[in-house]
Amino acid sequence: MNAAPADQIRLLDLQAVDSRLGLLAHKRASLPEHAEIERLTGDVTQLRDLLVAAQTEESDNAREQTKAEQDVDQVRTRAVRDQQRLDSGAVSSPKDLENLQREIASLAKRQADLEDVVLEVMERRESTQARAVELTQRLESLEGKTAEAEGRRAAASEEIDTEIASLTKEREVLVGAIPADLLKLYEKLRDQAGGVAAARLYQRRCEGCRLELGVTELNEVRAAAPDTVVRCENCRRILVRTPDSGI
Ligand SMILES: [Zn+2]
Repeated sequence: MNAAPADQIRLLDLQAVDSRLGLLAHKRASLPEHAEIERLTGDVTQLRDLLVAAQTEESDNAREQTKAEQDVDQVRTRAVRDQQRLDSGAVSSPKDLENLQREIASLAKRQADLEDVVLEVMERRESTQARAVELTQRLESLEGKTAEAEGRRAAASEEIDTEIASLTKEREVLVGAIPADLLKLYEKLRDQAGGVAAARLYQRRCEGCRLELGVTELNEVRAAAPDTVVRCENCRRILVRTPDSGI
């Protein structure tokens, strides 16, 4: 294939732009914020689950407390009623009086037991509430950190995108100036050779595969017309000659 030396040099400019674009795409995809946000999001989800569990437990505790308090009220009401009957003097039979007094004593014991239950539920409820408060604070802090990391990621991505946009324009201009057949070869080789299709021949070395050209190959390159598109024998990339090629 033949191409004007100036077009071959343009290929090197295009290669530089494409290499930079490849680097930027990789940089954008591997921003440390991606992993950081993923980890934070996982932690947030876990904390939300824990908070929901604590809130559910808290409302169970509240219900349990109401129930225990109602039990205390019931026993207390009955004890008050019994005490009133006792004080009224309406019960005169010694046996009935004894029964009534026994019931009042038994109710007092029952009330004390139920009050212990209320206290125990209240203590559990307080610790559940404290846990919910703590989880809420941790969740808020983690959500803050997530938002901050997302902000950093957006800023970093935007900076990269700006450079990508500017390089893409630059690429369009370069592509417009390169002959179609040369460009086609370049794109084909770029697919085959890991993104690098055109390499400078610099001080007898192919900058694509970093190998120094052998004597025979060097003589062939020397003998080739300036508009011949030379390929590296080792890596098959387009070898572009410049004043620094050492030939
Ligand atoms: Zn090579």
